[in-house]
Amino acid sequence: MIPPGALSVEPWAVAEEELRLDLLAQTESIFALSNGHIGLRGNLDEGEPHHTPGTYLNGFFETLPLPYAEGGYGYPEEGQSLINVTNGKLIRLLVDDEPFDVRYGTLLCHKRVLDLRDGVLRREVEWVSPTGKAVRIRSTRLVSFVQRSIAAIRYEVEPLATPVRIVVQSTLVANEPLAEQLRDPRTAVALSAPLVSEYHTSHGLEAEVGHRTRASGLRMTVAIDHLVDGPEATMTEAESEPDLARVAISTELAPGERLTVVKLIGYGWSSERSMPALRDQVDAALLAARRTGWDGLVAGQRAHLDEIWERADIEIEGDPELQQAVRFAIFQIVQAAARVEQRAIPAKGLTGRGYDGHTFWDMETFALLVLTYAAPYAARDALLWRHSTLDLARARARELRLAGAAFPWRTIRGEECSGYWPAGTASFHINADIADAVRRYVAATDDTDFERGPGIELLVETARLWRSLGHHDTEGRFRIDGVTGPDEYTALVDNNVFTNLMAARNLRVASDVAERYPDRAVELGVGAHEIASWRAAAEAMVIPYDDELGVTQQSGGFTRYRHWDFGATSVDEYPLLLNYPYYLLYSSQVIKQADLVFALYLCGDQFDPEQKARDFNHYEAITVRDSTLSASVQAIVAAEVGHLDLAYEYFRESAFVDLWDLAGNTADGLHVAALAGTLLVAAAGFGGMRDYGPTLAFAPRLPVPLSRLTFRMLYRSRRLLVDITADTARYELLCGEPLEVLHYNEPVTLAQTSPLTFMLPTLPEPAPVAPPPGRAASLSRVGRPPDGEGTGFPVTVGATT
Ligand code: BGC
Repeated sequence: MIPPGALSVEPWAVAEEELRLDLLAQTESIFALSNGHIGLRGNLDEGEPHHTPGTYLNGFFETLPLPYAEGGYGYPEEGQSLINVTNGKLIRLLVDDEPFDVRYGTLLCHKRVLDLRDGVLRREVEWVSPTGKAVRIRSTRLVSFVQRSIAAIRYEVEPLATPVRIVVQSTLVANEPLAEQLRDPRTAVALSAPLVSEYHTSHGLEAEVGHRTRASGLRMTVAIDHLVDGPEATMTEAESEPDLARVAISTELAPGERLTVVKLIGYGWSSERSMPALRDQVDAALLAARRTGWDGLVAGQRAHLDEIWERADIEIEGDPELQQAVRFAIFQIVQAAARVEQRAIPAKGLTGRGYDGHTFWDMETFALLVLTYAAPYAARDALLWRHSTLDLARARARELRLAGAAFPWRTIRGEECSGYWPAGTASFHINADIADAVRRYVAATDDTDFERGPGIELLVETARLWRSLGHHDTEGRFRIDGVTGPDEYTALVDNNVFTNLMAARNLRVASDVAERYPDRAVELGVGAHEIASWRAAAEAMVIPYDDELGVTQQSGGFTRYRHWDFGATSVDEYPLLLNYPYYLLYSSQVIKQADLVFALYLCGDQFDPEQKARDFNHYEAITVRDSTLSASVQAIVAAEVGHLDLAYEYFRESAFVDLWDLAGNTADGLHVAALAGTLLVAAAGFGGMRDYGPTLAFAPRLPVPLSRLTFRMLYRSRRLLVDITADTARYELLCGEPLEVLHYNEPVTLAQTSPLTFMLPTLPEPAPVAPPPGRAASLSRVGRPPDGEGTGFPVTVGATT
């Protein structure tokens, strides 16, 4: 838990006023910088102390054996793990021969600020060395949104009282020792020194090292160059060896004098290109960065983010902490995706090695739900990455004796890397999640080139998977049995409603698109017979229902499972999967994360309002939120069915997941899905935004603590703004052609320069609902515990993702 006051509450920044070494693990994630291509953890410039040194390149991994005590057909044999690549961000400082290290001497001040508008991490330090020499250090770090291979640091030192001898060593280190305890010795061998040197060189103010991985066959190179500004007698020297290269700058500074070093860092990697080609690529990127210069790089960050804020900012009145957390979430989603360029968005972005750097359904179902309306080009890029893995997914389907494509539950490059079938490959819903992301992207952008090209292929191959995975029973109903839905506490079930409804939509949308592009359908071998079989399966899809209770069953028979004894479960037994055997979890009515409730949101057009309310109440009482993916979805549905206070509490739970380290594992990297989910609560929860049909729909309503919520979005070449107060909703078309939207099911036409304001309807108060005993969403505005105490929020501590 990050205690109150450790990070200041500001609308456009996250600042740490005083260095907290006990929070280094978390702040390394929170202050991480990334453009989706390169990721730098927020390690101190001098590298030590650290919790986890981290420099990541999207898609750069090592393969590992996936050992099983007992193997099984279709179990993947190799895993993939994101590796910590050559650290280019190190800058060591010596003051009169004494290394600058915050653990020694006296720290007069130490401030770090993540500036959400400038897109940089600033640090200001005043330090007195053990021998009494006082210096001020200012550093600013960025990972360029504009020049995607480039990171840069401006490092400035000045003496505070007496003259000092200064040496700045700007270093590259490969194969840094890992802080993590790698329990499996085979993993430890593969990951403790994953890079094999291929070349190293240095001259002038430049140095460069190139490596390859041992097993995955990837090559990378990193080069640094410097712009130095110091007194006349400043000397420089460069040297390199296989795993280390540095440029050292030595000078003497009198009070009033400064040494400024701008370090430009260029990264490149490839599975195909030769080392000389990679070197050329990185050298060229560095040359271009030199030309842009430090000021140009900084200006580029600001311009990129100005545009993002203009089209995607969310403003909140009435809760400053939440305002900060929501902007932090937007910033982090942008960091995870801005320059992802046909690679995946991992569950932790590039902020840590949690989940081995894998990508899950989190990408399509959370991140892309946001990006489609905020940065559609990034959503397109991510979907193009999925498409690039289609052949692997086809091969996996064949291995599983299925038709079409079976996308992996978790992966880096596209191969299935999940070693646990029930909460891995059996989570087939990922295929429908991908298809739905395609549908949504096309509906929101009118990108018919994408639809006719990669889009239709993704839709057709996933539809084929469903048609072969399910079957018509003797009564003609279409069943999908033996699968796992989003709730991993109920595995290998029959007819999971989320899966079935999403699959039905997948089958329908694939049919529509195949009919819309008959030439493409022919190319893909889709005939009228196949389309008819998809439509028939979708029409006959089984949706299990409990007539006695009047609720939809999460999966067949679910409402008849044994009840979980919440009274006998203590707070420290969550997450349950770490403390209870699977037979008990799988046979009980206890839910890890929103599943049927997720269907109420994503497939809400398939439920009438009364049913939604009944279903929500039923499942709310048994959902323990052992995954951070849950609170936002529960908030969205809670808002829809009228539980605004509860929705607000879940909004906060999701929003503070990392800034307060609510799940206790922010050290492993940020929770991209929960952060994206937070943004969805604003638009889909309190804005009531739904995108099922051809017309975008809204049904705004605000919880009492908030006096105003304003969100912006892109939609079919238009920019929209929705501004909600306690009694009104105002819709503004900021640019583009007039657009019809639904306001509480009533069509209204928005036109530029004529905003429309409506009084909000008064809605009936629903009867109160209760989360499971001991799992209440108690994250109210006054609910944060003082420094040093337990969280007081048993709800989220120990969530597993
Ligand atoms: C959740 C999954 C999620 C994964 C990665 C798991 O704990 O149950 O839904 O995809 O974490 O975030």
